[in-house]
Amino acid sequence: MAAKYLSWLSYGFKTFLLKKEIPYLFGMVITDKCNLNCFYCESKNSGRYHFSYDHAKATIENAYQRGHRSLYFTGGEPMVWEDKGHTIEELIQFSREIGFLEIFIFTNGTIPLKIKQCNYIVTIDGPKAIHNEIRYDTYDIILNNVENAVTRAIFASITFSKSNYLYLDQFVKEISATKLFRGISFNLLTHWPEIVAEHGVTQEERKKLLDDLWSLKKEGFPIVISKAAYKALRNNNWKRPIPQIELGTKDKIFKCCRDVDNPSVCKNCGYANCVEVSQILALKPSAMWQVIKMVGE
Ligand code: SF4
Repeated sequence: MAAKYLSWLSYGFKTFLLKKEIPYLFGMVITDKCNLNCFYCESKNSGRYHFSYDHAKATIENAYQRGHRSLYFTGGEPMVWEDKGHTIEELIQFSREIGFLEIFIFTNGTIPLKIKQCNYIVTIDGPKAIHNEIRYDTYDIILNNVENAVTRAIFASITFSKSNYLYLDQFVKEISATKLFRGISFNLLTHWPEIVAEHGVTQEERKKLLDDLWSLKKEGFPIVISKAAYKALRNNNWKRPIPQIELGTKDKIFKCCRDVDNPSVCKNCGYANCVEVSQILALKPSAMWQVIKMVGE
């Protein structure tokens, strides 16, 4: 724990006082393979993104050498990744050994959460009936896996679209009542233009949704967003892309995310975690406090 706070202090000193742009959060699209087929996922089973074990280790090591200290795996479904008998658990262990301080797995939660030393971000796309429509009757399987997980560092995450945004209140109350999750994070569906045109929320719906989320947060529900990030996301006036975040595929490393060269996507970005990071870099106290609450334990 002390190592984490010392690292944050050192990072803050170099970033804010010495004005250096040092990377911190590295994402890896470790595979495109997935056991589900959700309508809004552009990566799933596309054959484009599967890392080999050696390439994955080299990429992780290189990210660490360039300054990154926080790492997340996404996909596809990272929990199904394997290469010549090597598993995602080995990559997590390797990442810990070389010095990564926080490690996250974005998972659909359908595979038992048996890997220690990481945080899980588990997608749940609405209250039970709505989630099951979008994600193939997996709600009970996921909750059972969360209940039996080896850690309590588990967050629920919802991607808001036209399919589920009207169920926000029911979703937050249902998930909170399980007492299984440390918090509820979210994204807005904004990254795949053809899908967004059909399934994304409008600008007015977006504002209302964010206002409702903020109201629920003020009521005491564990929604992972700071006041600064809520305002920045609602007003869409945060500085992007974020050079301290990188996303690696097997072929390329992107600044911030794969849409960095797509201004029409970037200008409406709904990745709440990126907005939160932008507010930390803007030295907003509420954003700093939010991240300490999320990963400082
Ligand atoms: S859409 Fe733009 S701002 Fe959003 S995460 Fe991607 S690159 Fe960053």
